[in-house]
Amino acid sequence: MALIVKKFGGSSVANAERVLHVASIIAEDYKKGNNVVVVVSAQGDTTDDLIEKANEINPDGSSKRELDMLLAAGEQISIALLAMALEKMGLPALSLLGWQAGFETDSHHGIARIKRVNTERIRNEIAKRNIVIVAGFQGINKYDDITTLGRGGSDTSAVAIAAAMKADVCQIYTDVDGVYTADPRKVDNARKMDEITYDEMLELATLGAQVLNNRSVEMAKKYNVELEVLSSLENKPGTIVKETVNMEKTLIRGVAKDTNVACISVVGLADKPGTAFKLFNKLAQFEINVDIILQSVGRDGTKDITFTVPKDMGKTAVEALSSMKDFLKYKDLTIDESVAKISVVGAGMESHPGVASKMFEALFDASINIHMISTSEIKISVLIDSENADRAVKAVHDAFFD
Ligand code: ASP
Ligand code: MG
Repeated sequence: MALIVKKFGGSSVANAERVLHVASIIAEDYKKGNNVVVVVSAQGDTTDDLIEKANEINPDGSSKRELDMLLAAGEQISIALLAMALEKMGLPALSLLGWQAGFETDSHHGIARIKRVNTERIRNEIAKRNIVIVAGFQGINKYDDITTLGRGGSDTSAVAIAAAMKADVCQIYTDVDGVYTADPRKVDNARKMDEITYDEMLELATLGAQVLNNRSVEMAKKYNVELEVLSSLENKPGTIVKETVNMEKTLIRGVAKDTNVACISVVGLADKPGTAFKLFNKLAQFEINVDIILQSVGRDGTKDITFTVPKDMGKTAVEALSSMKDFLKYKDLTIDESVAKISVVGAGMESHPGVASKMFEALFDASINIHMISTSEIKISVLIDSENADRAVKAVHDAFFD
């Protein structure tokens, strides 16, 4: 007998038919004698619809406390419906809101962090052989106010329960059947991976292969919770996410595209100590996450610094640096939003030369120009024009996987 945590995303419980289907998946494991704790998201687009409702009332933005109160309602609907579906099948099920399930968070409404999960209630219920259905994405702060964990937060709720209860398995059901070597909608020979490491998954998640919420993967890594990503529509094995995996023949786990990038160039900066510090310190004050950084060699007492930021932060970054023009004494400031970052990710490349050159050759063969390059132990990223992004992913994917 095992303790199984299962999480179902919004699309998996979008309508009555899907809710009943999810109930049958749960029933199968329960009837084998396992204890099952289920985490669910709000049905379909419910969360977006609720945000829309809030905007209708106050387009200037409602308080985060009230938004949390509103958004938490989405998950309340799906847990009750799923419990009803299980009841109908004659199974003992019980739904719990985040606070009832013991989710204690900090007070950052809209992006709260889980401090601890007091699992007493869940333990009592499963001891009575109840199937426990928990509302994902929500908790309660020390003032007894409802909080939410940020969009896509139900994955994190599931991992937190699995960690706190030392569950045997944590299965994340979604509408795709696993993690692919590239976006299967864009690259027809993309393959499903059997296994991937936490670190690789984190890179692929930030780079736009958004299957699992990032924070959930970080938490899974920290507490060593093995995850399985699988489809709620098809009954077949998915992708396992864990600490170390068998390196197959391939060095590369996947190819990802990120179009949420803007490239900013600061031209003609003074070539003296402290320039980079002052520039990036300013951006840090605005909580702007800088990614690839390139500094030119100094020439005639000046140098250029080029870097990338998330696209939605581009304007803020330009404003911040414009306000420092007199202080930084640069000649020109430009922003390019029509760029994309393409990355190859794989723990195997650490010990294998030639990955970068193979990637660059594939881009060269496709006549795609590279603006910037950055590397880490497990990834190589290039910045290119966004109009070439899909072609680049295909070319690089073919080079490594064909
Ligand atoms: N319902 C929330 C959202 O749409 C949480 C989740 O889906 O995980 O962001
Ligand atoms: Mg959702």
